[in-house]
Amino acid sequence: MAAQEYLTVKEALNNVLAGVSVLPVETIPLMEALGRVLAADVVAHDSLPPFANSSMDGYAMRAEDIVTASETNPVTLVVVADIAAGTMPDIDLTAGTAARIMTGAPLPPGADAVVPVEDTNEPWRATERPLPTHIQIKRSVQAGAYVRHPGEDIVAGTIVLNAGHILRPQAIGVLASLGVSRVAVYRRPRVCILATGDELLEVERPLTPGKIRNSNGYAQAAQVAALGAVPVQLGIARDTEADVRAKLQGGVDAHVDLFVSSAGVSVGAYDVVKSVLEQSGRVGFWRVRMRPGKPLAYGTYAGIPYLGLPGNPVSAMVSFERFARPAILKMSGYTQLERPQVTAVVDEEIHSDGRESYIRAIVSRSESGYHAVTTGGQGSHMMTSLVKANALLIVPETVKHVPVGANLQAMMLDWPETVF
Ligand code: AMP
Ligand code: MG
Repeated sequence: MAAQEYLTVKEALNNVLAGVSVLPVETIPLMEALGRVLAADVVAHDSLPPFANSSMDGYAMRAEDIVTASETNPVTLVVVADIAAGTMPDIDLTAGTAARIMTGAPLPPGADAVVPVEDTNEPWRATERPLPTHIQIKRSVQAGAYVRHPGEDIVAGTIVLNAGHILRPQAIGVLASLGVSRVAVYRRPRVCILATGDELLEVERPLTPGKIRNSNGYAQAAQVAALGAVPVQLGIARDTEADVRAKLQGGVDAHVDLFVSSAGVSVGAYDVVKSVLEQSGRVGFWRVRMRPGKPLAYGTYAGIPYLGLPGNPVSAMVSFERFARPAILKMSGYTQLERPQVTAVVDEEIHSDGRESYIRAIVSRSESGYHAVTTGGQGSHMMTSLVKANALLIVPETVKHVPVGANLQAMMLDWPETVF
């Protein structure tokens, strides 16, 4: 039997991260790329805007023609063209003339500025009115006014998004504007979820004496899905080596990138995950100096990275947060692997046992900064206190008592609009 090592959270996390690598690159349709990480720089093949165009509905002219224009002393120009968006002007604007122009329409050669319709004697619904023969301009503008210049946003030939960029809706829009319909991104991890235990029932079953439903299988699958990774459910393995092996084989056959199991890694008489893994090769069993969630198995099964979480539902979820989440993000190509943290003042006395503790809490903001209260019962089987929480307060190692008013780091699980 492998010796149980005692590790700090940081040591355990570093070991876990060292055992996983960024997944290979795949090229996918732009519409599927939201939340994915770019695997290569994107070079713009076009400039944006591609041509000089008007930023207003109005009249294009030469700024020098209207330097004296004012509300009381308008300048009259001859209207020689009507330029709609999507058309190309076929005129060359000369002194004393103007062209009606719509937002996004190309600026005609010869013109260097636009005056909005609001500043003319034709101040409304320009397109629905016949083109006037003359227009009175009631305001002077600088050359370049209301003109969007080519390349102002993006210059052709330059890198517009770097490898490593996490694609948000705005980046999807930029890529679309550049005609990029397929993008190279890192593959999404396929993560096998296995629950183990003779006491576990499928979620559809009524409770029977001594049994509980398999909640971990669902919670961990949801944690995987929340990261944009793909959960592959292996269901429930009974507490026999043969059954655990048979279920894990399903994951091997499905060519998954990571195994995440819950329970069976402790020191109980039926903790068979442990013996299966010990026989399969490279696996370490750690006692992480962490609360909740002391036992953790980590290594490989059939060459695939394996993370064995503790069975208690809160321990399983918090251990996933601390170890599986960063590993899955790393595999997905992310480089920022940690949840954001804020410093919060605790409004409630907190006791710990000297292990690095993750306390379920609600962090809120007031005039004086961030404040935290716990969400009640912190037993590692009490899921509702995790449901209420938006943060985990981190009580550092060796600290056993945190008085009211002290500062703690809060690892934010969410940034709800109601709080921030
Ligand atoms: P174990 O690590 O097998 O000793 O399990 C620790 C605790 O977690 C026990 O109370 C189990 O009943 C519970 N547990 C294990 N697996 C699950 C699961 N999939 N869903 C809910 N509770 C579980
Ligand atoms: Mg068990």
